[in-house]
Amino acid sequence: MTDQVSQLAGMLAAASSAVVFTGAGISTESGIPDFRSPGGIWTRMMPIDFSDYLADPDARRESWRRRFEMEETWNAVRPNAGHRAVAELAARGIVSHVITQNIDALHQASGVPADRVIELHGNTTYAKCLDCQARMEIADIRRHFEAHGDAPACGACGGIVKTATISFGQAMPEGEMARAHRATEGCDLMLVLGSSLGVYPAAGFPLLACRRGVPLVIVNREPTPQDRFAELVIRDEIGPTMDSVIGAL
Ligand code: NAD
Ligand code: ZN
Repeated sequence: MTDQVSQLAGMLAAASSAVVFTGAGISTESGIPDFRSPGGIWTRMMPIDFSDYLADPDARRESWRRRFEMEETWNAVRPNAGHRAVAELAARGIVSHVITQNIDALHQASGVPADRVIELHGNTTYAKCLDCQARMEIADIRRHFEAHGDAPACGACGGIVKTATISFGQAMPEGEMARAHRATEGCDLMLVLGSSLGVYPAAGFPLLACRRGVPLVIVNREPTPQDRFAELVIRDEIGPTMDSVIGAL
């Protein structure tokens, strides 16, 4: 066991309301490319801006085509050792909340109770009406799209339907932001797993914890702009690292 692993295990053992803050890096070991990987989904296609989605039916159709192309991938992905370690920490009462930038719902799939997961950028596994927030299932939208060449309007209010994710140019979800603030205000340790900490306002939460004097730990393959504020930086793979941490607890 490395010194860094035992140091993190010791910090977790002393914590009772740790917040885990995750980014795309915790899901790469499940086969979902992160933002930066060459050839990743995000580098191949220009993201569709929220204002274009609202204004342009062609942009909406293109967005749905991309989403359906990913359907098999999203359905097949499973949590990895990193997600499982976080779920174990939540089950032991060490981690109070998981704040995630991911849209893949893998924290819930690994057993973290849904009310402990705060999704800052939404969730791609279902859709929502942009006006009345009514939930719709992707499979139903796909059937309609294949029959009519378009996604259906909201069955309740006629509004525009979109995956339940936050697009570029779309406002952050107020309720989730407020929950993330409360969780961060109440935390006694902030553990970042797999985020470049370059996307704001999400990356403001680890900083907020630091300003409160709460220790910050970052596990990430690459350096991040917040490493200099961290009490401990582990520059290694998340799954094997967190597996060892659980073993050392
Ligand atoms: P990012 O791609 O900017 O950063 C990911 C970081 O994780 C990188 O610094 C990388 O070095 C590190 N990393 C990757 N795999 C790792 C591993 N196995 N072990 C250790 N470190 C590893 O991701 P971000 O900070 O989350 O920001 C990207 C944005 O894209 C987010 O807003 C997110 O919503 C979105 N996104 C989500 C998913 C998903 O839901 N799984 C995937 C791609 C992008
Ligand atoms: Zn509606």
